[in-house]
Amino acid sequence: MTTAPIECVTVEGVEVDTRHWIDGQRVASESTFDDISPIDETVIATIHAGGAKEVDAAVAAAQAAFPAWAGLPRAERAEILRAVAAGIDERAEDLARVETRDNGSLLRSHRRGVMPRVGNNFRFFADYLDSLDHPDGDIRGHRERVSYDPAGVAAIITPWNAPLMLATWRIGPALAAGNTVVAKPPEWAPLTASLLADITKKAGLPDGVFNVVQGTGAEAGAPLTAHPGIRRLSFTGSVPTAGVIAKAAAPNIVPLSFELGGKSPLVVFADSDFELAVSLAVEQFDNSGQVCLGAFRILVEDSIAERFTEAVLERARAVVQGDPRDEATDMSCLISRAHFEKVDGFVRRAVAAGARPILGGGPNTELGHLYYRPTILVDAEPGSEILTEEVFGPVLTIQTFAGEEQAIELANNTRFGLAATLVTGDPERAERVSARLNAGTVWVNCFFVRDLGAPFGGNGQSGIGREGGIYSFDFYTDVKNTVFAP
Ligand code: NAD
Repeated sequence: MTTAPIECVTVEGVEVDTRHWIDGQRVASESTFDDISPIDETVIATIHAGGAKEVDAAVAAAQAAFPAWAGLPRAERAEILRAVAAGIDERAEDLARVETRDNGSLLRSHRRGVMPRVGNNFRFFADYLDSLDHPDGDIRGHRERVSYDPAGVAAIITPWNAPLMLATWRIGPALAAGNTVVAKPPEWAPLTASLLADITKKAGLPDGVFNVVQGTGAEAGAPLTAHPGIRRLSFTGSVPTAGVIAKAAAPNIVPLSFELGGKSPLVVFADSDFELAVSLAVEQFDNSGQVCLGAFRILVEDSIAERFTEAVLERARAVVQGDPRDEATDMSCLISRAHFEKVDGFVRRAVAAGARPILGGGPNTELGHLYYRPTILVDAEPGSEILTEEVFGPVLTIQTFAGEEQAIELANNTRFGLAATLVTGDPERAERVSARLNAGTVWVNCFFVRDLGAPFGGNGQSGIGREGGIYSFDFYTDVKNTVFAP
């Protein structure tokens, strides 16, 4: 006898539907996968695993819903999206609790920053629609109009490290632009996407405009990326997956937006505000280092290197590791057993190759499970794996440099180019060095300061394209130029 898979589960007191969301309906699959909480490695939900059949149904629903949604006056679309934002704000605590249980990220971060930002991902792009209207231009006596036409169905595939924030950062502008969406959440943290479906329904988003197909990358993600019915493909994740996706999408000539990994530097000059530089270094342990734009390669000017390293070490020792639901916790666990082994492998190989751990360097044996200790490595061999590959864990390296030229050379010595952080007390140096850093975002004497209107994306293997403000609308619309004769 086979039993039907469970449809709903209660996580941290919040009921979550474990099925897909297609055309305004919950849809079940015969196969399922386990959703394991990294906090204690227990199975917290059994999720319906989609494949080509569910993807076809979701894309068909999104295609059917497209003309009416695209045809709605912008003000009406914006009003519905503001209602979605209000629904997110209303359920922020539920979303925070569920996401914390699902991916082990800090509850206090969700309460203070992440969930407000999730609501803003809809509100900002709804508001932004007004600024897409600008007066017609003049081209040799002809009237010229630039318009932003909805493109069609947008496929949105996202990772687990900030699941709802990263998904809504694309879903918000895609819907605001008049597209319909099929989202494929990460299989390691699939729950909040399901809650978002409930919120969109309650906010009055028409059926089929937003769809969620749960499942693994290979089974649900792959058929979505190869589907001829999609007109935009936004992918956030790792470089190897991006390569596979680019190939799958190529025959359909689908515009791609890729936001991928990084190996970002934190460049600290001797003239910097010392305390600020130390704080910025220790801040990189946020989310257990599972942050794409984290500045894990610390480059410090040799004259202050010893004092700086000591100060970072002292502050890093004070990082409180523990259960992410506890408000006192600064750093929790890694997402999965496989990822834990991967991070540990990087550290072991680095140490075998001559790097020296001055902090951590292995699992937190007191906490067990997937808790990896905050780790700082020095003396890594130039060009070695630990200095060039993305670890995506709580592992910082410290290298020294002598003068500006070497700082820039080391900072840019990577195939990535997502972000770079520079700390200096000299405004002229700030101008000179920031201009030469190869990164989509450069922060000078700050970190993580972002406006949703600013372009965000990476150079090199950190991605293709930019999103944010008008850059999002450039991507999620078919930009049209119409020229009227006088
Ligand atoms: P991943 O590439 O393994 O998976 C990301 C998503 O792609 C998941 O939803 C997965 O199911 C899906 N996927 C996997 N194989 C697929 C396939 N063949 N076809 C279609 N979809 C497929 O990445 P991850 O481990 O989940 O996330 C970590 C990576 O994401 C890191 O490299 C990190 O730097 C990057 N990241 C980048 C940003 C950014 O904005 N630049 C933000 C967060 C994370």
